[in-house]
Amino acid sequence: MAKKPETHEFQSEAKQVLDLMIHSVYSNPDIFLRELVSNASDALDKLRIASLSDAALAGLAKEGRITVTADKEAGTLTVSDNGVGMDRGELISYLGTIAKSGTKEFARALLEAKEAGADLIGQFGVGFYSSFIVADKVTVTTKKAGTDEALVWESTGDGTYTIAKSEREAHGTDVTLHMKDAGDGTDYLAPWTLREIIKRYSDFVTYPIYLKEAGKEDEAQPPVNSMKALWTRPEADVTEEEYNEFYKHITHDWEDPMERIGYKAEGGSEFRALLYIPSRPPMDLFYPDGSHGVQLYIRRVFIMHDCKELIPEYLRFVKGVVDSEDLSLNVSRELLQQDRETAVIKRSLTRKVLDALAKMKQDRVDEYKKFWQAFGMVLKEGIVSDTKNREQLMKLALLDSSNGDKTTLEQYVSAMREGQKAIYYITGGAVTSLRQSPKLEAFKARGVEVLLLGDPVDEIWVNAAQKFGEHPFVSVSVENLDLPGEEERADEAGKEEMGKSGVAAKLKEALGALVEDVKVSTRLVDSPVTFVQKGEPISPQMRNFFRAMGQEVPEEKRVLELNPSHPLVQKAAQDAQAGKDMADWSTVLLGLAAIADGEPVPDGRTFTEKLSKLLEG
Ligand code: ADP
Ligand code: MG
Repeated sequence: MAKKPETHEFQSEAKQVLDLMIHSVYSNPDIFLRELVSNASDALDKLRIASLSDAALAGLAKEGRITVTADKEAGTLTVSDNGVGMDRGELISYLGTIAKSGTKEFARALLEAKEAGADLIGQFGVGFYSSFIVADKVTVTTKKAGTDEALVWESTGDGTYTIAKSEREAHGTDVTLHMKDAGDGTDYLAPWTLREIIKRYSDFVTYPIYLKEAGKEDEAQPPVNSMKALWTRPEADVTEEEYNEFYKHITHDWEDPMERIGYKAEGGSEFRALLYIPSRPPMDLFYPDGSHGVQLYIRRVFIMHDCKELIPEYLRFVKGVVDSEDLSLNVSRELLQQDRETAVIKRSLTRKVLDALAKMKQDRVDEYKKFWQAFGMVLKEGIVSDTKNREQLMKLALLDSSNGDKTTLEQYVSAMREGQKAIYYITGGAVTSLRQSPKLEAFKARGVEVLLLGDPVDEIWVNAAQKFGEHPFVSVSVENLDLPGEEERADEAGKEEMGKSGVAAKLKEALGALVEDVKVSTRLVDSPVTFVQKGEPISPQMRNFFRAMGQEVPEEKRVLELNPSHPLVQKAAQDAQAGKDMADWSTVLLGLAAIADGEPVPDGRTFTEKLSKLLEG
């Protein structure tokens, strides 16, 4: 038993975080206790859940408790739990490396802003390592439930830690902090300080937290925390800080949430929900196995994390708790999927969240913009998948507009020109390049607004929805647009004149299969040429996307449109009329159309050669 402890090195990111904990002034050192209590509470949850499926653990999960012991004489503070504990491998991978996303992000932010200092740190919760804010040595004694090997992990945060065999009567974990001199006079061993911190950050923890002073008789004190589920308390009795702390407890986020949604359903199905929208997107928002779902409680008993069945995938950024009165306590994921009750809860939560977003959009415009920036891409998925709420989801969209600012579909419709039926949009690239597209010229000239849909998912939802209210979505890339106010602009004379030259037909002949057709049109104002499409308006980007996914895409039918008022096109028309060969012109005009659409020129070398020749005259 008196074997020498083995020494291990922290993984490098973990080292950086530790260094920072040790050498910086942390703006709120109190949070170390919140983190340790939260870990103890997680360990108790884990054991309880494991005990449901493992008969060997069933006896161990009773009477979960957390004890905080202050030892003035030894200068130590110990947080103990009778939870799941850790084995050797877990000690190494959980306490020796940075595994969780929040801390990873923290380490990255540190590297990016080396000199950022105390302010930056204050924004992050870094879990277990926050112990080193207040301690110069941390000792973890632990025994995994269901095993009989106890281990002790110890580190001074100097880059290494040791693991050795130890003694511990029952399963669970003691985290002992050898306290530094706080310097600012805060005494983390004073009972009233500890009591105050526990009440502030951990009141809702569902296991009792007992406070003990080493050496003093244990006179059966009541727990420090009320253990009252926050969502069962009247809203007026709960402070904003408590709500925020609860959010941080369940999400491990370090920032306050952007929005909180409380809901109590009565009559019919009975449940309460306390939902939150985070202030910024989590890193796993677009990972295939990213986190999704709320915590499910049944009559105040915690059942599972990440309950996907209760919230649609396009609201996967919503976090929180649902507490049902009606579901059965031994419900499993499989049963949930078939339960009628589940569908009812999901439907009303979806409604609740969408209503809250609509309200936020109306009342807190700037915040809503931030929300949309963070989560708009995810919400748009709902326009495709949730046909029932499609109209409401479309109303929530903030979209880029050719008029400059962001707009909404309702605003777009109310600002339509007289006689305008369609909602015009352009896709196929980033907003900055869409804004420059020659396809917008005719619309600008006629004072018709165009939505600039720069998100890859935009083309998909526009095609799925087809219309908003009674207004169809129409791509600016389609042939033969019937624009409102057409008569005001049409350069019919120029068009006719050009028609006589036969330039379109001759170019078509020279281009062969490269285009479906060549036409003279009144769509363009400043640019010489553009491409439009016959049939389905699918952008080249979308085509590539579908092909990459191995899907069939209808043949592209591009039409090259010529601007009869443009000098370059007029010159080409003169050459055509004079019976000159149109091969050079066709290469140049085709290339120019591609460039203006943000596409590669089919044959750059030939294009450059012909263009130079033309410019030389
Ligand atoms: P997080 O709690 O966000 O996962 P922490 O840094 O707080 O990150 O803890 C890291 C990991 O260490 C936990 O996920 C858990 O697996 C393990 N751990 C920490 N404290 C305990 C404990 N008291 N009992 C069991 N495991 C623990
Ligand atoms: Mg933690």
